[in-house]
Amino acid sequence: MFKLNYICFSLLICALLSSCQKTTEETELDQERLTIVMGGDADYYPYTYLDDSNKPAGLDVRILQAIAEKINADLKIELGSWSETLEKLENDEIDIVPMFKTAYRQHEVMYAVPHKNRYYALFGTASSSYIKSISNLNGKPVYVQKNTAGHEWLRKTIGHSNIVAFDDIYDVYNKIQNNNENYILNEAVQFRSFLKKNDLKLLSIKSPPLVSYDYGFAAKSGNNELIQLINLGISAITESGELDIIMKEYELDLNPRSFFYYIFIYVLLIIVLFVLASIVYKYRIKIKVVGKTLTEEGIKRIEAEKRVIYLKDYDEFTGLINRNKIKKELSKLIESNSDQFIGFIQLSIIDYTDLFLNIGESATNDLEKNLAIKIKQNNINNVGTISPGKMGVILGPHETKDIIINHSKALFGNLNDTINLGKNNIDIRCCMGLVIYPDHADNVETFFRHSYLAHSHALASNSKFCVYDKSLEPDPKKIRLVTDFRQSLVDDEFSLYYQPKLDLKKNKIIGAEILIRWVHHQFGFLPPMTFIPLLENTGLIKELTLYILAKAMEKQVYFKEQGVLLSINVSTRDLTDQVFVQTAIKLTEHFKSIIMIEITETAFSNDYKMFIDNVHLLKEHGFHFSIDDYGTGYSSMQYLRDIKPYEIKIDQSFIKNIIGSNEDEILVSSTVNMGKGLKARVTAEGVEDMEIAKKIKKLDCAYAQGYGIAKPMTEADFIDWLKKSSFDI
Ligand code: C2E
Ligand code: CA
Ligand code: CA
Repeated sequence: MFKLNYICFSLLICALLSSCQKTTEETELDQERLTIVMGGDADYYPYTYLDDSNKPAGLDVRILQAIAEKINADLKIELGSWSETLEKLENDEIDIVPMFKTAYRQHEVMYAVPHKNRYYALFGTASSSYIKSISNLNGKPVYVQKNTAGHEWLRKTIGHSNIVAFDDIYDVYNKIQNNNENYILNEAVQFRSFLKKNDLKLLSIKSPPLVSYDYGFAAKSGNNELIQLINLGISAITESGELDIIMKEYELDLNPRSFFYYIFIYVLLIIVLFVLASIVYKYRIKIKVVGKTLTEEGIKRIEAEKRVIYLKDYDEFTGLINRNKIKKELSKLIESNSDQFIGFIQLSIIDYTDLFLNIGESATNDLEKNLAIKIKQNNINNVGTISPGKMGVILGPHETKDIIINHSKALFGNLNDTINLGKNNIDIRCCMGLVIYPDHADNVETFFRHSYLAHSHALASNSKFCVYDKSLEPDPKKIRLVTDFRQSLVDDEFSLYYQPKLDLKKNKIIGAEILIRWVHHQFGFLPPMTFIPLLENTGLIKELTLYILAKAMEKQVYFKEQGVLLSINVSTRDLTDQVFVQTAIKLTEHFKSIIMIEITETAFSNDYKMFIDNVHLLKEHGFHFSIDDYGTGYSSMQYLRDIKPYEIKIDQSFIKNIIGSNEDEILVSSTVNMGKGLKARVTAEGVEDMEIAKKIKKLDCAYAQGYGIAKPMTEADFIDWLKKSSFDI
């Protein structure tokens, strides 16, 4: 199932770059067409349900079909009960399930951009009392479909006692239709429509909205690529207007207009016309407009029509041209200047959401207007609003590509400045993704897609400025590595190498770091840095770490007898993963032992507390901790204080050139002192020769690791080497 996510990326790329030359690898991948498997509740009309001929139909099916077409994928639908559906998602039997976005679920799954928001309310029989708030239920039972967002909310709000969770809605309907003491909690709009369509008339809504949630497509946590792909599809069907049509048809399906509705509109129209005619007759107000005589009502109508025309091309809030108009301008420019270069920038204001929350909507609109004025002062005519906080800027036409690049760099430099808003001066920072015609895009659609990609890369980069390049597209080799990963684990393509750590004072080997090696059946030897970051980004790293941990646990029994403490590298991502932490703890039940976990310092935000809690939990179960690559990254005193590591490993960059570097000497000495204060052992990494070993020993650093002592070796070589090696430093 997972494999498909990555194949789909390559298919999308191939589809979008069909004009480009393809490598053999890409062509091979091309032949495998992506299938997305969507699951859902068969009875959950009208999001996901079976139609009269037992075929999947309904809102989500239609939206996902439209998305699948855009991203060149097949859609397979497997409906069942809701509980089965969640189980299948967990077991990777299905890729996508549409569901409400609750706080709890966000730990388990990840969501694409939501397409709906709906609320839950209580339903009861005609004689059931109206319940104003869930606390007014007074012990009456509430029925709710198992494991739904509503079920989750009830458990949190009233506890388990009165909840009756069920799977089959028809069963429950039969049970409670005559009992005015019972209620069902259900999503209000669709459930009302479900009752109506199935002619189940005895239940009706009996409470105000109690809780509301966004609703959208969810995939299992870690499936980032699939979600990104779905999001690309959503933005494609949003831009093409398909989503709008599907949503409107769905609303109409929920609330079909009755015959009386049309009669009502007809009668209303006649009355309006009659009233208008009598006003005209009574006042006979005549105004000259463009040489014609019009009534006051006529003027209003013209104003309204003018506004509709205005809004087609202009943003209602900033008054700048909108996405639609930018696209028109771009295609006009492409048509009339096919031999020149045209640039298009997606530009965003960094921290726009914070600004919006702090200074309010109208001030952020003014901010955008002022920014647009500033942009226009840079000899630019077309600036518009793409979405709140995001603008589109057209550059050129110009004679060369360099003019466009230099122009946008100059613009970027000018914009990171203070903008004056009445009493307030606001410092803004911008982020830009640039794409250039004809090199990067030859039509408006690709202009937008590629500038979107460049903008996302810019956001993630330090410079906040990025020019589109093919290399920004997901790399087919990387896709292969990710898709092959699990099979490679089974096929034993991974092996553990050991690199010793030397106690410089006792001249004795006291530890070894386990480093992973992957010999891929097609690409051959792969250095860890080519696949570790990839596995981290896709959430697969956990499986590799657990594989290494399980092996290391077995081996450490032998090495402990030799006085060697084994350490493994663990990604910080693993340490915020409860499955990883629990599995690691379980392993300690079988192998009572000590293993050291080397963690690289990384920036933490929301999950910092969970990370530290897990470190302490693992410590309680016998694990030691080491801070890897100390001195690089985001080291902070708080981090050291919170972890209280067993070991601090000074990064190689401070050790390799220490001979003759006064600064490195000072840094190493001060780290050694700090280590003493914290009661942590300090190990120098990257000790490439004996001269360095002697030097760091002089600086009172007691432990060393590096090629000068030994390179990483296979287990058999390491055992052999341990017997033979001796040191005198
Ligand atoms: P690291 O944890 O800092 O590991 C030390 C790296 O430096 C290893 O490279 C090692 O071979 C290399 N090295 C050791 N002594 C010397 C020396 O004297 N001179 C030089 N130039 N290099 C030396 P390797 O094995 O290529 O690993 C690179 C990185 O990949 C590791 O850096 C670690 O961050 C990551 N890595 C390796 N194995 C694993 C693993 O099992 N799990 C995770 N999460 N990451 C791993
Ligand atoms: Ca390490
Ligand atoms: Ca290191």
